[in-house]
Amino acid sequence: ARKFIVGGNWKMNGSKALIKSLVQETLNGASWDTSKIEVVVSPPAVYLDAVRQAAKPEIGVSAQNIYSERSGAYTGEISVDFLKELGVEWTILGHSERREYFKEADEFVGKKTAFAISNGLKVIACIGEKLHEREADQTTAVCFRQLKAIADALTPQQWASVVIAYEPVWAIGTGKVATPEQAQEVHHAIRGWLAENVSAEVAEATRIQYGGSVNEKNCVELAKKPDIDGFLVGGASLKPEFVKIIVAGE
Ligand code: 13P
Repeated sequence: ARKFIVGGNWKMNGSKALIKSLVQETLNGASWDTSKIEVVVSPPAVYLDAVRQAAKPEIGVSAQNIYSERSGAYTGEISVDFLKELGVEWTILGHSERREYFKEADEFVGKKTAFAISNGLKVIACIGEKLHEREADQTTAVCFRQLKAIADALTPQQWASVVIAYEPVWAIGTGKVATPEQAQEVHHAIRGWLAENVSAEVAEATRIQYGGSVNEKNCVELAKKPDIDGFLVGGASLKPEFVKIIVAGE
């Protein structure tokens, strides 16, 4: 069985005060069945050190991006070596906001995924279609194209370090969550693509998170679907409500 995994993507939000109230008080004070549920929080890069130090050990910590070189003249970028030194275990890659606003191409996301894993990190790799793509019946075509660029960069063994986050762009930050049926349909298709193009074992073992307007009210029904193995949460991950989303995996 795949272990349920809930990530909190803080995006460009947070403060020292939030680390104290949300991480030290709320999350450290909450409990969940760690044999069934994995939790990862992803603050902005400048707060990674503070969050890793504040969070209890069973909470994973994730960067929101990395660069595909270890060091050098790359002003503003984040190295895997920095993360390793801080004890940060994960990075998100290919978030739709990076693809959209920072023009990250599919191949670049694939390259960074392989680089991160080769350097000992685990990766939450994001894929998902925009509204006009869904309306043009291109949902799976877009997801498979983004997935292929990741798969082309990885060895079969490296998939053990990957979680896929399916985040339909039209559902992100809009309050328009995908229905459990809509999400399940795409998750099932993603798993089918992995079975056909990577291996049956990888398809069975790889966790696929849903992201896009997940909240305490809609998480329980989504979590019941067989191919939904967790969530990547934005807005609601900044609030005590995040704990309710975590325990939806029980
Ligand atoms: P919201 O939960 O705010 O819709 O954001 C989802 C997301 O983009 C997580 O990475």
